[in-house]
Amino acid sequence: MKIKIADLEFEPLISEKSIIERTTAIGQQLNADYQNSIPVFVGVLNGSFLFIADLIKQIDRPCEIAFTKLASYYGGTTSKLKIRDDIDLIMDIKDRDVVIIEDIVDTGNTVHYLIDKLKQRNPSSIAVCSLLLKPAALLSPIAELKYVGFEIENEFVVGYGLDYQEMGRNLRDIYKKV
Ligand code: 5GP
Ligand code: MG
Ligand code: MG
Repeated sequence: MKIKIADLEFEPLISEKSIIERTTAIGQQLNADYQNSIPVFVGVLNGSFLFIADLIKQIDRPCEIAFTKLASYYGGTTSKLKIRDDIDLIMDIKDRDVVIIEDIVDTGNTVHYLIDKLKQRNPSSIAVCSLLLKPAALLSPIAELKYVGFEIENEFVVGYGLDYQEMGRNLRDIYKKV
């Protein structure tokens, strides 16, 4: 079913059921990969709030969770090359295994920016886990991107945390712009 948010129309792309299945599988992968560590999951607000909430429930060993807030799209439907750094990560990540949790990697600018910033704080490792990836939009490879939920076309999506003009984050499924 098509939906309307502000001036744009959207149609279903990824169902809640598929999201839950993929999130469960990624959680199991993380459990295996971090079995000898207490990882720190760093959620990038706002977009990743539902994904990190569901993902963390799949983790069956001790872990920590922290947040940072970055913005790139603010309002429109295309990535801004300039990143707005709204809330810094407060937790000390020296000698920790960090897993950045993103809603979507588009040009990759936001994630590159955050990786560079966090590396200066000397964590033992940094990996990136993103629910969505637009391979055709990626400007340069991200070696740390180890976990991806779904690869999608170069299209604008909303739902399950992702917004259009701050709306649509509450949708259970992911929709694409018609
Ligand atoms: P990048 O810096 O990789 O170009 O973009 C990263 C950020 O832009 C994402 O974390 C997300 O907040 C926003 N973004 C990128 N693509 C989309 C999209 O298709 N829909 C929405 N709602 N936000 C997007
Ligand atoms: Mg994001
Ligand atoms: Mg946004």
